[in-house]
Amino acid sequence: MTIELAQVYGFCPGVRRAVEMVNRHLHSDGPLATLGAIVHNAQVVDALAARGARVAEDLESVREPAVAITAHGAGKALYQELARRDLELVDTTCPIVKRAQEAAKHLAENGYAVIIYGEAAHPEVKGLLSWTEGWGHATLDPNAVPPPRGGKLAVISQTTKGQEAFWTFVKHMVERMKTNIQEMHVVDTTCPETGRRYDSARALAQRVDAILVVGSRNSANTRKLAETCQETGVRTHFIESADEIEGRWFSGVDRVGVTAGASTPDEAIEQVIDRLRALRRGGV
Ligand code: SF4
Repeated sequence: MTIELAQVYGFCPGVRRAVEMVNRHLHSDGPLATLGAIVHNAQVVDALAARGARVAEDLESVREPAVAITAHGAGKALYQELARRDLELVDTTCPIVKRAQEAAKHLAENGYAVIIYGEAAHPEVKGLLSWTEGWGHATLDPNAVPPPRGGKLAVISQTTKGQEAFWTFVKHMVERMKTNIQEMHVVDTTCPETGRRYDSARALAQRVDAILVVGSRNSANTRKLAETCQETGVRTHFIESADEIEGRWFSGVDRVGVTAGASTPDEAIEQVIDRLRALRRGGV
C-alpha cells in the first residue's frame, strides 16, 4: 500500500506562529493565560496546559501575569483593558487578521460604512467589528447590507471565507445597491491557506483509493476538509488520532492519502503515518 500526503496540509502559518509564540513565552517567562483555545485541537491545548498555558474564558478569571490573544485577534477594548490591568500581552494575532483589522479601522476613520463578509458571532469578526467604532456590519447575505454612510461603502472579509464566495457577495451587493453608492472600497482580506488545503485534498482524492483526514472534530476547517474529500466520492475516514485507525479500512486499497486541517499538529500526522506504515508491514 502506497501512502501519499496532500501537497498542503496541517498547521497554517498563523496557527504555527501562535503556538510557537506561546511556547517561547512559557520557556522564557513562565505561565500565562490564553483567552480561548490557542488552536482548536485538544492535543495541542493539553500539551500547552501541561507547560503552564491555561485557557481562560475572560479577563476576570485571569490569575497569571501574562495573557495571550489567539490568532483570531481581538477588539480594541480588550487591548485597553489589558493595559489598564497591567497584564503582559502575548499578541499572537495572525498578520493576515491584523491586516484586516487595520483595513477596518482605516476605512471607518475615512468615513466608510464597513461591511464585513463573515459570521457575526465568530471571534475574528467580533474583533474586526470593534475596530470600526460602530460603523461596521457583519453579514453573509448581500440583501442584508445596510445603506452606505454618506454614499461611502467599504467591504472586507472574514479571513477564512473563500475568495470566490467573497467576490460573489460583493457583486450581488453592488447590483442591489449601486444607486445608493457614490464611492466604494473593496479590500480582499481572505486568506488563501484554508482554500489551499481543500484544493490539495481534492487533487489527492483523484490519486488514491481512500483518504484519512486527521484533526479535531471541534475544528470547523477540519470538518469541512473531510466533507470536501467525501464530495469527491473517495472513501473518507475522519480521525482525531492514529488510535482510531482500523486495519479493515484498507482491504483492497492500493493507495491511501493523508491530509489534515489547519489546526492539526505535526505529531498527530506523524503518528498516523507511523501507524499506516506498521499496517503495511503487517503489524497492528
Ligand atoms: S487561516 Fe490564514 S488568517 Fe487564519 S490563522 Fe491561518 S494563516 Fe492566519
